[in-house]
Amino acid sequence: MDQTLPNFIRQTPYPLLIDGKEMPSESGATFATINPDTGEVLAQVARASAPDVDRAVQAARRAFEGPWGKATPRERSKALMRLASILNDKAEMLAQIEMLDVGKPIKQSRASTISLAPTIEYYASVLLSLTGETINISDPTLMDFTLREPLGVCGLIVPWNYPVSLAVLKMAPALAAGNTVIIKPSEVTPLSTTELGLAVMEAGIPPGVVNIVHGTGPEAGEALARHPGVAKISFTGGTVTGRAIFRAAADSIKRLTLELGGKSPLLVFADSNIDAAVTTAYNDMTRNTGQVCAACTRLVLERPIAEEFLEKLSKKVAGVKIGRPQDNDTEMGPIVNKTQVERIHSYLKVAQEEGVQTVRHVDLSGRAELQRGFYMDPVLFLGANNSMRVAREEIFGPVQTVLTFDTEEEGVRIANDSPYGLAASIFTRDAARAMRMTRLIQAGTVCINHGAKASVDAPFGGYKESGIGKERGMLAMLDDTQVKNVRYSIQ
Ligand code: NAD
Repeated sequence: MDQTLPNFIRQTPYPLLIDGKEMPSESGATFATINPDTGEVLAQVARASAPDVDRAVQAARRAFEGPWGKATPRERSKALMRLASILNDKAEMLAQIEMLDVGKPIKQSRASTISLAPTIEYYASVLLSLTGETINISDPTLMDFTLREPLGVCGLIVPWNYPVSLAVLKMAPALAAGNTVIIKPSEVTPLSTTELGLAVMEAGIPPGVVNIVHGTGPEAGEALARHPGVAKISFTGGTVTGRAIFRAAADSIKRLTLELGGKSPLLVFADSNIDAAVTTAYNDMTRNTGQVCAACTRLVLERPIAEEFLEKLSKKVAGVKIGRPQDNDTEMGPIVNKTQVERIHSYLKVAQEEGVQTVRHVDLSGRAELQRGFYMDPVLFLGANNSMRVAREEIFGPVQTVLTFDTEEEGVRIANDSPYGLAASIFTRDAARAMRMTRLIQAGTVCINHGAKASVDAPFGGYKESGIGKERGMLAMLDDTQVKNVRYSIQ
């Protein structure tokens, strides 16, 4: 292990957090997490399997039936506010950890961890207005009303691209609604979520309310998705994994929120502000090294402006600041691991087979400092059509596939012709057309004249194979409840 690491990176294996205690896995097994900037081992982490998941579920159940289940909304809200304050204090440390574990450029890492406290504060506030309703049913002998109740133990399975942010986006509404949780972070980036678990303990949230089980998807993740004591799985990750989780959760008819992959279109009309659209395409390609689910990765350009657009985009891409994550001006850091680099590279071969032109503006071979880690340059695929794999499959890296259209109808058809429907960005100065597009585009988030982004207080979640249910906003909390209808005789 690297001896020059900051002291907040543990030299001993990162533990599981179950029932308010740090512990190794029952088998004693561990796995390594790698620093994408150097390719070196960053830390060892306890590797949970089914018996550890079972222990976590029992602890979460006890907490649900005990202190957390009995807490009043106001007590839950106060506890979450304490957690928000602690996470605010730890935001810089968490940013440094994700810089090392995910390879996130430090500026982007900070932007992500500074949002943890506001996310929790939002749910600490809105939980106070969680109510049922009274229904005027047509039977005069009955008074009818609904109660919104928590589900019980929720399993939260998280990917590696925004580890602690996505864990918090799942955990905060689940706890706000009165559930207890087990978080299964990605085995690729486990460290920041351990710190989240420690912050939960520091906030005085009772043992067992938040448990953290590290481990692989097929082992710890599958055990969680299958466990009969888990009422709901909230999963963010790839669509293929989403299907496996859907199946594993089927036996016990679990509730599901699935936030899956995307191949979102950036639909640019000739009348748009081209520079703003180019900036969006550039940002979506480079931010988090293109490893963003909602990034627009299909550029669908109206033919008359395609050439100008690509000229401007190429110029920007050629100037991208690829560098080490700790450098303040780095715009694009490494890919998260070797497997992902190989996956992205495999699409260069696909493009070749499909007769698509591959354009690469940056040569990293002379950059000695980038040779140890998982760095790659941005890629543009030109001359593709929408039926090709490079236009249909999620690549999840700094890659854009460029398509063109001649009429509004054709633009919409291309945009919608995808198994995914996570997000879309539309650029046009024509307000009526923008409104038409918001109706016609099949995506969970439609952004007009800016890049697809999400905020904590508005719902986010995909159409079609991009998922089920919503995260963020009030809807995320409602998705973590169940509705009981009460019919009361007033005779
Ligand atoms: P992944 O699907 O490989 O893994 C995600 C999580 O699932 C990890 O914790 C993993 O250990 C676990 N897992 C894997 N196999 C499992 C199984 N059989 N049973 C249970 N759990 C299992 O995804 P990833 O590579 O970590 O992340 C990238 C993907 O996530 C991309 O497809 C991206 O689009 C998607 N993503 C979606 C959103 C969204 O909001 N829609 C946000 C971020 C990322």
